[in-house]
Amino acid sequence: MITRFNHQLNKTLPEESWKKLLASGIQNLHELASFLNLDANALLPEGTQQRDLEAGFMTRIPLPYASRIKKGDLHDPLLRQVLPSLYEQQSATGFVADPLDEAHFNPINGLLHKYASRALLVASSACPVHCRYCFRRHFGYTDNNPGKERWAQVFDYLRADTGINEAILSGGDPLSAPDSHLAWMAEQLASIPHIRRLRIHTRFPVVIPQRVNAELLDWLQALSLQKVVVLHINHPAEIDGQVIHALNRLKAANVTLLNQSVLLKGVNDSAEVLAELSEALFAAGVLPYYLHLTDKVANTAHFDIQEAEALTIFGQLQALLPGFLVPKLVREIPNRASKTIIATEIGGAYS
Ligand SMILES: *Cc1c(COP(=O)(O)O)cnc(C)c1O
Ligand code: SF4
Repeated sequence: MITRFNHQLNKTLPEESWKKLLASGIQNLHELASFLNLDANALLPEGTQQRDLEAGFMTRIPLPYASRIKKGDLHDPLLRQVLPSLYEQQSATGFVADPLDEAHFNPINGLLHKYASRALLVASSACPVHCRYCFRRHFGYTDNNPGKERWAQVFDYLRADTGINEAILSGGDPLSAPDSHLAWMAEQLASIPHIRRLRIHTRFPVVIPQRVNAELLDWLQALSLQKVVVLHINHPAEIDGQVIHALNRLKAANVTLLNQSVLLKGVNDSAEVLAELSEALFAAGVLPYYLHLTDKVANTAHFDIQEAEALTIFGQLQALLPGFLVPKLVREIPNRASKTIIATEIGGAYS
């Protein structure tokens, strides 16, 4: 009943509306300043060009997301995630283009296979939002944008490795791809006997909730695989009524909802904010999955939180939440069999 109701509601939305929202996102800092009632000089110091700040990674802020930024507040945690700044120009020791050594786990264009049971498919190189802390901002996306013939190679690879039981659609943001293409990919994956689950890592339901439309829900609902959507939400203020509505629709299509966050200086580096995030997620039917420490990616050092500080915040967070709302604190260390859980060693006895 609920599904049908949502479905009908959805049909009333113009099919192309998410594409219009995608195309009309804010890309100009003067426009952003006037949208937020801020002085343009505060975003773009006099004498600097916008491209000087962007370090090769263009500004891109969809309007549904921009509308949740507090007007007149230069330190808003949502604004900080998307606003290019001079800090991106500072070179920092140890921060490099490919800290995860991903170029080595790229057996075929479009595929990253690092962990035995699951493989990651780069379903689209585009993103609806450009997060300034993005760990893939230097990724060779143009090489990872294969057409259907190249995908056939990816599916052959997956078919040949019976140890893989989960396919992860990632990117970029995989929901940037058209539903016809995603539905085709999902069908191909479902035809591989040892694949049980389809996981989608996306920021779309948060930054453009209108992306969760009838076309997307139709192929998801029809799919025989179990479905997991991992959202990327870093701050409770990113969740509004429209986002909750989109998440409800995904749940009604039998999708399990999880969230991963990145611990970011000046955004969510406080136990109170993270606890509020977990509570807001659970209220929206989402379970916290990971809290990532940042990767050492060039141009993002100003977001970095040291491990010792992260552990202090994490300890305080645990005291505020039931265990099931505490995300796992992890970091990615190249050439390991999984993400690495960061924990305090008891009394330092094992160090
Ligand atoms: C992070 C990642 C995964 C998923 O890891 P989980 O711990 O299962 O969430 C899979 N493949 C690649 C290449 C990854 O970077
Ligand atoms: S949505 Fe993800 S991949 Fe895209 S810019 Fe943001 S962090 Fe990077």
